[in-house]
Amino acid sequence: MAKTIYIAGLGLIGASMALGIKRDHPDYEILGYNRSQASRDIALERGMIDRATDDFASFAPLADVIILTLPIKQTIAFIKELANLDLKEGVIISDAGSTKSAIVDAAEQYLAGKLVRFVGAHPMAGSHKTGAASADVNLFENAYYIFTPSSLTGPETLEEMKDLLSGLHARFIEIDAKEHDRVTSQISHFPHILASSLMEQTAVYAQDHEMARRFAAGGFRDMTRIAESEPGMWTSILLSNRETILDRIEDFKERLEAIGQSISNGDEEQIWNFFNQAREQRQAMEIHKRGGVDSSYDLYVDVPDEEDVILRILELLRGTSLVNIHINEENREDVHGILQISFKNAQDMERAERLITENTDYTVVIK
Ligand code: NAD
Repeated sequence: MAKTIYIAGLGLIGASMALGIKRDHPDYEILGYNRSQASRDIALERGMIDRATDDFASFAPLADVIILTLPIKQTIAFIKELANLDLKEGVIISDAGSTKSAIVDAAEQYLAGKLVRFVGAHPMAGSHKTGAASADVNLFENAYYIFTPSSLTGPETLEEMKDLLSGLHARFIEIDAKEHDRVTSQISHFPHILASSLMEQTAVYAQDHEMARRFAAGGFRDMTRIAESEPGMWTSILLSNRETILDRIEDFKERLEAIGQSISNGDEEQIWNFFNQAREQRQAMEIHKRGGVDSSYDLYVDVPDEEDVILRILELLRGTSLVNIHINEENREDVHGILQISFKNAQDMERAERLITENTDYTVVIK
């Protein structure tokens, strides 16, 4: 039976989700809310949605499923508003916020006792781009799509959501909201704080040490890439997961203190162990073998500085889809080859490795 889906917030996430839903359910009617006209127009013109409004409350009573793809604060404000609207009985309300406890708590507070179902969700995919113009039907491909069920989730909700979102080609997974926020504070929120702090420290330092800018290369780029993320989104993430993130900051301060002490003591063994332990732990994490947010499959080729060498490699890889290609710069202390090629999945990367080693004598490293 065709359903009516209401997506509130036609930004990168909401508009990409609309495209994914249409892919598997072309018969569903998709209604869209957006504050600004620009994204409403794009979403209508590109057929992402069927009808658009700038009045959130107006479409809500028509929907079988309402997905709030807005900043966290606005998501909570709309949950509160939904509590006072005359919605369809059994409607599913979901969201896409990057932190979950604050949103799930708000739903439990405002929607309890209503004839609605609610399931928190966090699709672990995105980019630094924003707005409907950046929508991509493949944005969620192979990425984790996390559901955080709670007392309002009710029967069949997850099955209905997974069916609705099948065209996203995501990997659905369930986890408790608080645990979601703890895990993401460690592997996502805190690393963003670190990346931005490092960037800020370096920028200030570079004012007096001008060569710092020029020498910054592979390792520095890997460490600071996420400092280019969208500031508004990260501000709301930090403010909606405060205690957990503060706990990670305190823990990290102790770690910095400890390595500082080892350096101060000139304790060679402790310093060696510090690096060795981290190396072993990183290798055990299999970070490159996993799909999902931010993971990539990088292959490094040590190519000579000769004419057409990169064209030759690309020619060999004709038909294999590359995500990115990068020529590493002067300081290559932290990288494994001059030419770095990134792939979307392990099969493509392994195929490329085979093709390059069979057809050239260049050293290929996968790290
Ligand atoms: P976006 O900036 O592309 O879109 C946000 C949308 O919210 C826009 O349509 C904007 O018009 C609307 N909006 C903003 N403030 C509003 C307000 N006060 N009232 C009404 N509408 C308002 O952002 P996005 O990347 O699509 O993010 C949406 C949600 O998805 C956020 O909660 C974010 O935490 C979450 N999320 C983002 C990513 C990512 O990497 N981009 C990944 C996973 C989850």
